[in-house]
Amino acid sequence: MSLILIPPFVQQINSEIARQADVDLFVLRLDVMHPWVNGNKWFKLKYNLLEAEQKNFTRLLTFGGAYSNHIYATAAAGNLLGFQTIGVIRGEENLPLNPTLSFALQQGMELVYLSRQMYRQRSTVALNEYLQQRFGEVFIIPEGGNNLNGVRGCTEIISQAMPTPGYAYAFDYICVACGTATTLAGIALSLHQGQKAIAFPVLKGAFLKQEIENILTNYLASSLRTPYNSPAAWELMCDYHFGGYAKVNQQLLRFSQEFSSAHGVPLDYVYTAKMFYGVMDLLQQGFFAKGKSLLLVHTGGLQGNVGMEYRLQKMCQI
Ligand SMILES: *Cc1c(COP(=O)(O)O)cnc(C)c1O
Repeated sequence: MSLILIPPFVQQINSEIARQADVDLFVLRLDVMHPWVNGNKWFKLKYNLLEAEQKNFTRLLTFGGAYSNHIYATAAAGNLLGFQTIGVIRGEENLPLNPTLSFALQQGMELVYLSRQMYRQRSTVALNEYLQQRFGEVFIIPEGGNNLNGVRGCTEIISQAMPTPGYAYAFDYICVACGTATTLAGIALSLHQGQKAIAFPVLKGAFLKQEIENILTNYLASSLRTPYNSPAAWELMCDYHFGGYAKVNQQLLRFSQEFSSAHGVPLDYVYTAKMFYGVMDLLQQGFFAKGKSLLLVHTGGLQGNVGMEYRLQKMCQI
C-alpha cells in the first residue's frame, strides 16, 4: 500500500488554565497526517485495507451516516489506493448532497441508501449476506472501522505515531474523545503501567463501560494480541456530551472558536471540541494532580465542520 502520510506531531498548549493547574498540556495532531485520510479513522482503516489487499479484494463496502468521517476517509483512501468503494448511508438520499457525501462521490464512491430501520441491521449476517449478493465480491468494513483490525491500528496511535520512540511514555494521561471506544481500547492496550487513558464520550448513555470491557476482552483473546498489549487504567468522563451525538450549544461553539484562535488547533464540533472542553473544565476543577502531563489526542474529523456550519447557518435563518 502506498499512501504518503505526514507524521503526526506533538504541540504544546500554553494556556493560562493549564499553568494555574500546574499541568503540562500537549496535543497529538493526528489531524495533520493527510488532508482527507487522517485522524483515528486512518488508524482504524489501516489494517482493514491491508487485509483487503492481502485477500485480493478490489472493492470495499462500508457504512456510515450522512456526515460520517469514516465514509469520507474510506472514499479518499479507496481512491488513492486503487479500491472501488461503496458507501452504505443511513437514511434517505437528500439532494443536494451535503459536503461529506459530495466529496465521497467525487472520490468515486458509489452511494447506496438504507432506511434507518434496515441500517440498524448493519452488523447482522443477514444484511451482510444480502450486500455481498447485491454487490458481488466486496470486502466489508464495519461502520467507523470498528472491528479488531480497527483496534489494532489504534494501538499504534500512541506507541508509533511519535517523533521519538519512548517519548509517548512521558505522558501521565492520554485524553481522547470517544464514540464507540474502539480508539480508546487501542490506546489503552498500548500504554505503559502508570499511564492512564481518559475518554470523553460524545454520546449520552451508560452503555459504554461494558462495551469497552468487551472490546478489550475480544482483542486480548484474538490472534492480533501482542506481548505488549496489556490494558492500562482508563476512565470515562461522562458529563461532556452536550446533549448527545452531534449536539452543540453556544458555549461549545464559542469555546471551540476561542481555543482554535488562541492555540492554533482547529477542533471539530462532534468529537474533539467536547473532549478539549472537558479537559479544560477538569483542569479548572483541579482534577489532575500538579506536575502531571497530559496528551490530548486530536482525532481529526475536521471535514465534518463544513456540514455542521452549514446546518447551524440554516437553523439561524429560521
Ligand atoms: C470517529 C471519531 C471518534 C470516535 O472514535 P471511536 O473509536 O468510535 O471512539 C473520535 N474523534 C473523531 C474525530 C472521530 O471521527
